Amino acid sequence: MKIAIIGGGASGMTAAIVAKRSGAEVSIFEHMHRIGKKLLLTGNGKCNISNTDMDIRHFHGGSSDIISAVLDSSSPADTKAFYESLGLFLRDRNGYLYPYSEQASAVLDVLRFAIRDLGIDVYTDTDIKLSENAGRFVISTSGSRFDFDRVILCCGSCVARNTGSDGSGYDIAQKLGHTIIKPLPALTHLLCEEDFFTSIAGIRINSNVRIYSTDNEKSTLLGEEYGQVQLTKTGISGIPVFNLSYLATRSLDEGDRIKAELDFIPDIPADDIRDFMMKRREELSDRTVEEFFIGLLPKPLGICICKRVHLSLGDKVSSMSDGAIESLCRMVKNFDVYVRGHGDFDWAQVASGGVDLKEVTEKLESRIVPGLYFAGEILDVNGDCGGYNLQWAASSAMTAAREACSA
Ligand SMILES: Cc1cc2nc3c(=O)[nH]c(=O)nc-3n(C[C@H](O)[C@H](O)[C@H](O)COP(=O)(O)OP(=O)(O)OC[C@H]3O[C@@H](n4cnc5c(N)ncnc54)[C@H](O)[C@@H]3O)c2cc1C
Repeated sequence: MKIAIIGGGASGMTAAIVAKRSGAEVSIFEHMHRIGKKLLLTGNGKCNISNTDMDIRHFHGGSSDIISAVLDSSSPADTKAFYESLGLFLRDRNGYLYPYSEQASAVLDVLRFAIRDLGIDVYTDTDIKLSENAGRFVISTSGSRFDFDRVILCCGSCVARNTGSDGSGYDIAQKLGHTIIKPLPALTHLLCEEDFFTSIAGIRINSNVRIYSTDNEKSTLLGEEYGQVQLTKTGISGIPVFNLSYLATRSLDEGDRIKAELDFIPDIPADDIRDFMMKRREELSDRTVEEFFIGLLPKPLGICICKRVHLSLGDKVSSMSDGAIESLCRMVKNFDVYVRGHGDFDWAQVASGGVDLKEVTEKLESRIVPGLYFAGEILDVNGDCGGYNLQWAASSAMTAAREACSA
């Protein structure tokens, strides 16, 4: 069985090793000068490879049945065993799995060593053309032509183009008849309309974030996440915002107006906060409005909240009406901002969209071109922050490679 892997990233390298160990003759075609460049960027250079919490809600895409089937057939335990077989041991940091050395380069090294030791052919700097005829595949590069029984397309998305993931894999899939769900940035920051962000930039605060699609009449909740939000000069960022961004970028692309609501004190119900603030008004009656939130929220954020409900910063706290306290409570619990844009593909960590899951089987074989398989981010699957995207790259690669060898 001769198998071609197009794209030498996380999924391509894994697929190549699994296929070779299953007895296939394997070649990797990579258009960059070297394989695995993106891996070095992952997890801030530490490579968050997986997670102990593999609940399906951490994965998003066209078909949760296919995602579940893939994660069942090639589980995180299989990934751990795979990496250990390469000599890579994992470290568990509160459920987030990293290489024990906490070096992304170690992950790339063990994959590269296995590829070398198994004698897998690696063609770099190749600009390939792929065609299929009567169940056989032909890959042409400038000056050479190769025949294969199976092809696994592992070209990634169009995120971090300088790593080689330039969207050309979508063109290859499309030329073979596949539909591409429009790729959009995911795991990225959101740009907001309000001009007060410069005054609160740099603040990091644990918050609940809700994203709504909204018009004058009603708001529809798209998603909700808890975690540390980063307030920036242009809007909101941080892990909860990253995790919700795929919903915002898709809705913005469809022309919706998007509102984000931040709850800065999510662990205390609104009624209790109101009682607490009423009491605080008595206890801190000599403070100015500007000083009211000191000790509770970061000072610039407290000032911003007071300004948003039109209080005069120099007034005494004792002068605040019950209505003003109500408004402050609402603003603390529902700090609403409007999203005008998002980080682009060079800021994002993954893309949502990709090859339509309706057109692949649970074993990731094309329903349009038998013998063609897909793995990794090229598929319409995106995961949350926390190792879910590399887990998807590994699980999908193992599933596709095993199936390609056995079919
Ligand atoms: C800054 C950053 C940090 C990240 N951190 C994490 C993290 O900590 N944990 C996590 O789970 N995920 C993380 N991710 C996401 C994760 O890196 C990707 O989801 C994963 O690498 C996807 O693997 P892949 O094999 O599908 O694609 P890629 O890793 O992008 O590999 C695709 C390969 O195919 C090659 N290629 C593309 N087109 C062609 C073509 N036409 N011909 C030949 N070769 C081609 C590319 O050059 C590339 O080598 C991060 C991403 C970024 C950008």
